[in-house]
Amino acid sequence: MDPKLLKPYDPKKTEGRIYKLWEESGFFQPETGAPWTHSPDTNLNFGKSFSIIMPPVNANGSLHAGHGLVMTIEDVMIRYKRMRGFKTLWLPGLDHAGFETQVVYEKKLEKEGRSRFDMNPDNLYKEILDFTLDNSSNIKNQIKKMGASCDWSREKFTLDKDIVEKVRQSFKKLYDDGMAYRGEKIVSWCPKHRISFSDLEIKDEERTDSFYYLKYGPFVIGTARPETKFGDKYVVMHPDDKRYADYKNGQKIKLEWINGPITATIVKDEAIDMEFGTGVMTITPWHDTADFEIADRHGLDKEQIIDETGKLLPIAGEFAGTHINKARPLIIEKLKSKGLVEKIDENYKHIVRTCYKCGTLIEPQIKSQWFIKMKPLAKKALENIKDGKIKYIPDHYQKISIHWLEKIIDWNISRQIVWGIPIPAKICQACGHGMADLEDTISACDKCGGKVLKDKDTFDTWFSSGQWPYLSLGYPDQKDYAAFYPTSIMETGGDIIFFWVSRMIMLGLYMTGKVPFNIVYLHGMVLDPKAQKMSKSKGNVIDPMTLTEKYGTDAFRIAMIVGNTPGTSLALSEDKIRGYKNFANKIWNITRFVLENQKSGESETKKNVIEEFENIKKDITADMENYRFYLASEKIYHYIWHKFADEIIEQSKKDDDMKKSLLPIWQDCLKILHPFTPFVTEEIWSMMSASSPPAGQAGIDRPDQKNLLIAEKWPC
Ligand SMILES: [Zn+2]
Ligand SMILES: [Zn+2]
Repeated sequence: MDPKLLKPYDPKKTEGRIYKLWEESGFFQPETGAPWTHSPDTNLNFGKSFSIIMPPVNANGSLHAGHGLVMTIEDVMIRYKRMRGFKTLWLPGLDHAGFETQVVYEKKLEKEGRSRFDMNPDNLYKEILDFTLDNSSNIKNQIKKMGASCDWSREKFTLDKDIVEKVRQSFKKLYDDGMAYRGEKIVSWCPKHRISFSDLEIKDEERTDSFYYLKYGPFVIGTARPETKFGDKYVVMHPDDKRYADYKNGQKIKLEWINGPITATIVKDEAIDMEFGTGVMTITPWHDTADFEIADRHGLDKEQIIDETGKLLPIAGEFAGTHINKARPLIIEKLKSKGLVEKIDENYKHIVRTCYKCGTLIEPQIKSQWFIKMKPLAKKALENIKDGKIKYIPDHYQKISIHWLEKIIDWNISRQIVWGIPIPAKICQACGHGMADLEDTISACDKCGGKVLKDKDTFDTWFSSGQWPYLSLGYPDQKDYAAFYPTSIMETGGDIIFFWVSRMIMLGLYMTGKVPFNIVYLHGMVLDPKAQKMSKSKGNVIDPMTLTEKYGTDAFRIAMIVGNTPGTSLALSEDKIRGYKNFANKIWNITRFVLENQKSGESETKKNVIEEFENIKKDITADMENYRFYLASEKIYHYIWHKFADEIIEQSKKDDDMKKSLLPIWQDCLKILHPFTPFVTEEIWSMMSASSPPAGQAGIDRPDQKNLLIAEKWPC
């Protein structure tokens, strides 16, 4: 027996060595297969491929528990399919993660007393690039620590030269097809980050604020935001509202307002809710989407009141230059002194839109940005999803996707940050027209001949990651693309189903004509032991690296899988992981017993227990085939602990016939366990191979690099 087996299992001394062995074996690459995989006679899945594109990991920090889950689930899938004889590819990648990374870097700058707004953009870019590259090697080591059997020779980064070039070309194609356009529209703007977002980077939040009833000439208007009211010179009511029947559309009235007398115009519009407040409102088209639409319908003026940093503009008179948060009480004071406040409701509960990163109130602004027309893209996606070309696990995500796609709005892809792929475009300074310009050759507006300037913005980071399946496979180059696209499965978090999954489907269909993957598997969140969201401020963050260090990666992995049904959240506790460390020790001790006590030969007892085990194997295999890893892992755990150890081993202490069943069953148990707990099972496999069985007895061939458990055949 291997003398190492006499000591307790030590993950720290084992895992790095085993991972290196796997990497050097070539089995992470789809081209390398164990001898049994090379023929259709021994491999039922000969010639079939199975591929997963790893969700590119943000290269701006460390792996968190959610990443630990991604690495575990996807590795379980890949190892299982590899053992079934598929040509398996798991393609790893890193994401520059545009705004996300820039925010991380800004926090660092803040600590150093610096601000990105005072920096030269080129220097800032270089600093963030260095920071990202530093982080990348750290993150890759952490991915390896998780046991991920991905093909590092195919690793991609979203800022790789070839990727950037293809992202630029996709934009050009969208532009040439009339699908990408420059539009002056109302966008969601974060005054703190000074960036515009798509509709997804917004978090709705319930807040209690004051609601003000203000006298506006003969009317009373209600507002939660008096600081936007300076430019309000249109007063809108429903055409059917009998209370205001005397007022005519277009009629002018003179009234006293915040900074003196103004002339207001009556507008009748059906969008007004007669039941809300007094049924009369004034509008602020520059800073409110609904107001913008009313103004558009009636051809009304739109005036900017608040600048991009959240300060009031000269239109606010004496309040110009004051931040809106400071200005609000001052404005109310002034209105009160003028007798224009009718009443204040201090308990007004409403939903406000905030920046998902910093919680700052979103300030809608009219800005000229690049948009992608989404309706035609969504139409194709919907056809394919409804046709079942993409299977969702769990299936209720199909409905959620369809619902979102059916009401999709155009996607603002312009971001006002340096950290990203620059949008290859020129903007006309005279008419605002935008032109895609890959070669940087356009020198005049093709509409009005006006002077053009380079667009300073970068793409929304999801514009590159939304193309990840075909870009990372080298499309349009056919080598990997032809072999692995569409990929077999996309496994990611349910929280990015719109951000990422749906956009990948739309862009994949648009660029390649094919869905990017056949199955979407969506996992839930990893929560703390009390089922609360982990956050740095709550101090309840579970760091996967600390836990794998303490209990071994295998214990962490199986704790992530058992009981974790797709789509639902997992409450992770250290106790659970500690429990599985005991399991690793248990299988270590079982191995020692099996090697010391196993006997060869046939017997009725052996026949019976093996037959029973065959059924268990079939059951577990069906679970694996149907992505029920939470059941498969639990069943093999239960069998080993309660059947094999408690019954078969106990009985074999008294019954020599039972000893004959030990080795064959145990070998298969290790194979089934391998996708879940790869390190300890690989280590045991090599020891069992090394311990030459007595002459004439069943044993395993001596190990070489091609005789690793990772490349063994699944025993069912
Ligand atoms: Zn923000
Ligand atoms: Zn022009």
